[in-house]
Amino acid sequence: MTSLIWFRNDLRTHDNTALHHAAQHARTRNEALRAVFIATPGQWQQHAMSPRQQYLMQSALQALHQTLASCGITFELLQADTFADIPELLADYTQKHKVSALFTNREYLVNEMQRDEIVTEKLNCTCHWYHDRLIIEPGALLNGSGQPYKVYTPFAKAWRRLCAERQAQPLKRPRSLGEKLTPKKLPSFCEPVELGDWPQNEDSALKQLRNFCRERVQDYARKRDLPAEPGTSRLSAALAIGLLSPRQCLARLQAEQDSPSETANGADIWLSELIWREFYQHVAYHFPRVVKGKAFKPETDAIRWRDDDADFQAWCEGRTGFPIVDAGMRQLRQTGWMHNRLRMITASFLAKDLHIDWRRGERYFMSQLIDGEFAANNGGWQWAASTGTDAAPYFRVFNPTTQGKRFDPDGHFIRRYVPELADLTAREIHSPPSLDNYPAPIVDHKLAREHAIALFKAL
Ligand SMILES: Cc1cc2nc3c(=O)[nH]c(=O)nc-3n(C[C@H](O)[C@H](O)[C@H](O)COP(=O)(O)OP(=O)(O)OC[C@H]3O[C@@H](n4cnc5c(N)ncnc54)[C@H](O)[C@@H]3O)c2cc1C
Repeated sequence: MTSLIWFRNDLRTHDNTALHHAAQHARTRNEALRAVFIATPGQWQQHAMSPRQQYLMQSALQALHQTLASCGITFELLQADTFADIPELLADYTQKHKVSALFTNREYLVNEMQRDEIVTEKLNCTCHWYHDRLIIEPGALLNGSGQPYKVYTPFAKAWRRLCAERQAQPLKRPRSLGEKLTPKKLPSFCEPVELGDWPQNEDSALKQLRNFCRERVQDYARKRDLPAEPGTSRLSAALAIGLLSPRQCLARLQAEQDSPSETANGADIWLSELIWREFYQHVAYHFPRVVKGKAFKPETDAIRWRDDDADFQAWCEGRTGFPIVDAGMRQLRQTGWMHNRLRMITASFLAKDLHIDWRRGERYFMSQLIDGEFAANNGGWQWAASTGTDAAPYFRVFNPTTQGKRFDPDGHFIRRYVPELADLTAREIHSPPSLDNYPAPIVDHKLAREHAIALFKAL
């Protein structure tokens, strides 16, 4: 008989709960351990997964395959079109390889949970499902009335309390289960794309985490909002596909806690970002309407957004005439990543200045982002569009010009991505004079703001 681990977005061998238990099971029963990943290009297309993220997964799988082979675990890359094809594929596979038990880490979105339910019904072996993707699993945190949290701050307080009680530690990579295997090159499921310097395997992701916690977290409080600075960890792509676990992030951060107070402050703010990640996953789990294209605040579904393809295209291509918006959108298009401050500014601009449905922007982001993650992306978009969990009132509308002046005061970031403006001074760059090669602003921000407020007031 054989034990089987099914990898999904947990492409690592360290601190992988399902792998840990699968290895234990195989060892005690003296069974072989096999591993699979199932590529689903049709499903990914439906979910608008970006080519960069697909290729990152492809590279990460190649590395995972080698690591597993060195531990005596056979890895296979299977292919189905959509989630609907997976139960049958796995049923055939488990029968062919005489699988006694399947080990898998849970996912918390509607389509994924439905897929897993059907798999459990269809397979003729025991299925073991583990919480692994978050430090605190959905369902473990409810408010005093037994309801899920709808606002970040009380959620974060409860999260910190439970996390301190549990003190979960990362698991080690399982010891070798047999002779080292010779890994073959995996078949590919996507076209190669230029990835830049993103970690593409768990060792480089762990190295980046260590470097960030050791050398840069102390500056996080000061630099995290400045897109021209390398002030954030840039670990989001690794977290999205599970090259790293959030437990590993927390443990590494805690290892730095003895340091001076500025480090502790930066570390604490960084932890609060990891808690945002958990918060949005809990929201998507408890309020599945957000996964089905609905607003978190149902009343805001009545807003009549504008349908303007030309303005939407100008926004996608970074041609709005608002330099900080254009720089952010071009960063996304060119690199597959955008700084968090710019995600907020550009998302607010689409919804509150162009009055275009935030769902179009949400999908466009997914189609470009190397770190695309449904819950974080949806949460960020609904936050910016005032349809989500944000506690601030809807009339908080970002002014793209003042945001640019505040967070890119010298215009360094704008010059990097909008070379047409490279010769302007820091004073000019946020409201450029009329230029031949750069568009005039496509909206009047003051009027657009008033219109956005009127849209919400009318509800
Ligand atoms: C409109 C919008 C869309 C977004 N889409 C995504 C997305 O698809 N995938 C994604 O991972 N993040 C998304 N974010 C959150 C955030 O912008 C990115 O996580 C962050 O920019 C990644 O860079 P970093 O790894 O250097 O972050 P750091 O500042 O170093 O933060 C550490 C980690 O915390 C998590 N995190 C940080 N901020 C947030 C947040 N606001 N919400 C949820 N998790 C957070 C990420 O996993 C990140 O890697 C979005 C934010 C907005 C406003």
